[in-house]
Amino acid sequence: MKYTPDKPLIYGETLESLRERLVASGEKPFRAGQIMDWLYKKRASSAEDMTNLSKPLRAWLAETFEFTPATPVLDKRSGDVTDKLLLQLGDRSLIETVIIRAPQKGVGQDKSRKTICISTQVGCAFGCKFCASGLAGWKRDLHTGEIVAQFIEVCRREDPNTPRASEELASFDNLVVMGMGEPLANYDALMRALTILNAEWGLNFGARRITISTSGLVPRIYDLADEPMGFRLALSLHGATDEVREQIMPVNRKWPLKELLPAAKAFSEKHGRMITLEFILIQDINDSLDQAQRLAKIARNLHAHVNLIPYNTVQGLDWIRPSEAQQDAFVQVLHEAGVSATLRREKGHDINAACGQLRLQEERERGQIEPVPAKG
Ligand code: SAH
Ligand code: SF4
Repeated sequence: MKYTPDKPLIYGETLESLRERLVASGEKPFRAGQIMDWLYKKRASSAEDMTNLSKPLRAWLAETFEFTPATPVLDKRSGDVTDKLLLQLGDRSLIETVIIRAPQKGVGQDKSRKTICISTQVGCAFGCKFCASGLAGWKRDLHTGEIVAQFIEVCRREDPNTPRASEELASFDNLVVMGMGEPLANYDALMRALTILNAEWGLNFGARRITISTSGLVPRIYDLADEPMGFRLALSLHGATDEVREQIMPVNRKWPLKELLPAAKAFSEKHGRMITLEFILIQDINDSLDQAQRLAKIARNLHAHVNLIPYNTVQGLDWIRPSEAQQDAFVQVLHEAGVSATLRREKGHDINAACGQLRLQEERERGQIEPVPAKG
């Protein structure tokens, strides 16, 4: 479904594109820098706030651009470490933005790593069998301005009083593009959003602190390797053989392991940095020690870090999380093989932390999505 906002979204503009629009309307090009400053350094939420601009220019801005592409409709704080923000877009679509606070080892107790997790699509077309985002299918891609607006809303929420968005964002250690949707299927809008996030005139957030997670869109992994901004890559593997991966990830039929793994290798060789292999542990699907051994081999070959995630229950799906003993045995195989691996006992289970679940629940309540039968 296509959605074209009535007006262009201000957060979708780059310095260059804004400059062009200003010049075309007879304004001075340097105003573009002032406007970006208001948006990202001083955190204006409307044209009215931009007090060093002339009245006619403020009126032009207000008329030309949409300043509020996303409105928070629900804010779920878990007792645990994950907070979820449900945002409503101009067409009433819902997306999730998540804040994760993970305590840091060896540092004072109040010191935690802060991560923002953003969405790139409404729903997802890739239909992984364990995932809430894939359950209701793909609705649409997000616009650049809707991706950037997620950072702005997080900054507002974190501290409504601090005047500077970029400073607020700097308190975050990492950004992960792991929310709803397949980021590499909305490639151009995402790259533009990350350009705005990364730019000095924008939110000034380092590319090396940004991780993009993909279910394995091979041609786009090669494209990403060629991007000048050096993002990190996380690959959602979830199966160490085609047979297992295919059962839960339809995308594997299009890009099986013999194509996917060389793409991952090319990426990591180009960047000279470790990629992460995400592996959700699902009982009797991919949690055997044989899978662990095969995964260890893949990880060693790619010189990759493995992130094990015990399956997070999704309403309507009857997959089961393996016992803790099985999880431990699995990670031990990796460690014994000399692979760097972490077992992430899940965060924020009590607020439906697995991506896409909060939206699914809300849309079901609103009657926008029919409940699905068990097992997708
Ligand atoms: N589409 C991209 C990014 C979004 S999904 C991708 O698939 O990588 C982000 C991560 O959440 C993926 O690793 C995905 O496999 C994982 N995930 C999805 N559903 C989950 C669940 N029920 N429990 C645990 N992790 C889940
Ligand atoms: Fe889409 Fe990722 Fe969920 Fe698969 S795991 S359905 S690719 S969001």
